[in-house]
Amino acid sequence: MDDDRRRVPRTDAVLADPRVAAACDRLGRTLVKEAVTAALGLVRQGRLDAGLAAETALSMLPPTAARLLPVINATGVVVHTNLGRAPLSAAAREALAAAAGCTDVEFDLAAGRRSRRGESVTAALAEAVADAEAVHLTNNNAAALVLAATALAQDREIVISRGELVEIGDGFRIPELLECTGARLREVGTTNRTHLDDYAAAIGPATAFVLKVHPSNFATTGFVSSVGVGELATLGVPVVHDIGSGLLRPHPVLPDEPDATSALRAGASLVTASADKLLGGPQAGLVLGSEALVARLRRHPLARALRVDKLALAALEATLRGPATPVEQALTADPARLHARAESLANTLRGKGIDATATATEARVGGGGAPGAVLPSAAVRLAPELAAPLRTGRPAVVGRQHGRKLLLDLRTVQPQDDDALVAAVLAAQPGTH
Ligand SMILES: *Cc1c(COP(=O)(O)O)cnc(C)c1O
Repeated sequence: MDDDRRRVPRTDAVLADPRVAAACDRLGRTLVKEAVTAALGLVRQGRLDAGLAAETALSMLPPTAARLLPVINATGVVVHTNLGRAPLSAAAREALAAAAGCTDVEFDLAAGRRSRRGESVTAALAEAVADAEAVHLTNNNAAALVLAATALAQDREIVISRGELVEIGDGFRIPELLECTGARLREVGTTNRTHLDDYAAAIGPATAFVLKVHPSNFATTGFVSSVGVGELATLGVPVVHDIGSGLLRPHPVLPDEPDATSALRAGASLVTASADKLLGGPQAGLVLGSEALVARLRRHPLARALRVDKLALAALEATLRGPATPVEQALTADPARLHARAESLANTLRGKGIDATATATEARVGGGGAPGAVLPSAAVRLAPELAAPLRTGRPAVVGRQHGRKLLLDLRTVQPQDDDALVAAVLAAQPGTH
C-alpha cells in the first residue's frame, strides 16, 4: 500500500503537463484541478496506472467551463423545455458568438453616439410581421404578459375565459402571473365553453383589455366552444392575444396553431409570444401590435427590468433573417427521409453487433405548441438498458422510453448529428469499446 502511494504523482506535477496546462488556459484552473484530483484518487485506489493520470483527467473535463452539457434530443419532442427548447441554427450561434464581446447593441457606429437598443432586431421582426405597427422585445413571453398587465391593467380588469387559465409548466400559472402585477382578473365562461356574450357582460369601465391565451400545452375536445380574436375585437376594448409558440405566419404543418400575422389581421391589438418555441430562436418575448399600446409598454419602468440581453438579440435577429431553423427542419422533415436515416443508422449499429432496428414512431411538437399534433416519424429502436449510459455519455443522448424499448426518434435529431449518435450508442454499449 505504501509503495502504491509513493507512486501517486503530485497534483502540481500533473497540472504541469503541457496538455493539462493548455486545458487550464481554456477552462480555468479550478475545473481542471478537480479532474486531476479525481484521476489521482483512482491512482491512489490502485484503479489507474499513474502514467495515465493526466490523460484520464483530460477525459473527465467538461466540454466547456460551464456545466451545461450538450444533448442530442432524440425524444421526438421538437420543442423540449427541459432540454432548452429550440436548438439555435448555426447562423444564430455564430451571431451570438460574434456579439459576445463588445458590440454595437446600443451604439450608432457611423454617428459615434448612443442609439436605440437592438434596433436592427426590432426592424427584422417588423419586416417579418408587416401587420404589426410596432414591436417590443422582452426577456420571455411571461415577461411580455407581466409588462402588458402592469402597463395597461394595474388596478383595472383583464377579462379572460375560464377555459384559458393555463399553467405553463413547473407550477407557474398565467392567472397568478397576471394578478401579481396588481391587475384584477375577471373570469368569464366555463372550462369547456365561453361565448361572446360572456365577455360582453363582463366589460365595463374597469376593463383594461380582453386576454386570449392559447392553450399551447393541452387540448379540449367534446362539448367545447371558445371565441375567436375576430369576434373579441368587436367588443370595443383592446384584445391581447398570447399565441404562445411564436409562429409569425400560418404554418402548413400546424394548421390549428395561431400565428402573429393572422391574430393581428383578425383584430388583436397586441400579440405576445415566445421566441424559443416554434419560432426556433433564443429565449425572448415578442410583443407585436398597436403603436400606442406598444409605446406604453416600452415607456414603463418595468420594461428596463425585463429587457433582452445582447446575446439573445443577436441570435434572434439571425433566426429572423437567417436560414430555416432546426425547429422548422424538424417540423417539415419528410417521413420517408427519416425512415431511410433510421434504416441506415440501425444497419450501421447492427454491423457493430448492436441490437438495433428501424421503426415507425410519432413525434410531437411539445410544450411549445400544437398539443394535438402528431408528426409521423422514424426511430432507431434499442435495448432499454442503453438509456442510462446514453444519457450520461458525451454528448448526452436523451431518447424516449416506450415499455421495453428505447427509441431514438430522428425527427428531432439534426442529420449532421447522425454520426455522433452512432458513436454515442457504440460508447454506451458495454463491451464495444
Ligand atoms: C410558453 C407559453 C408562455 C410562457 O412563455 P415563456 O417564453 O416561457 O415565458 C406563456 N403563454 C403561453 C400560451 C405559452 O405557450
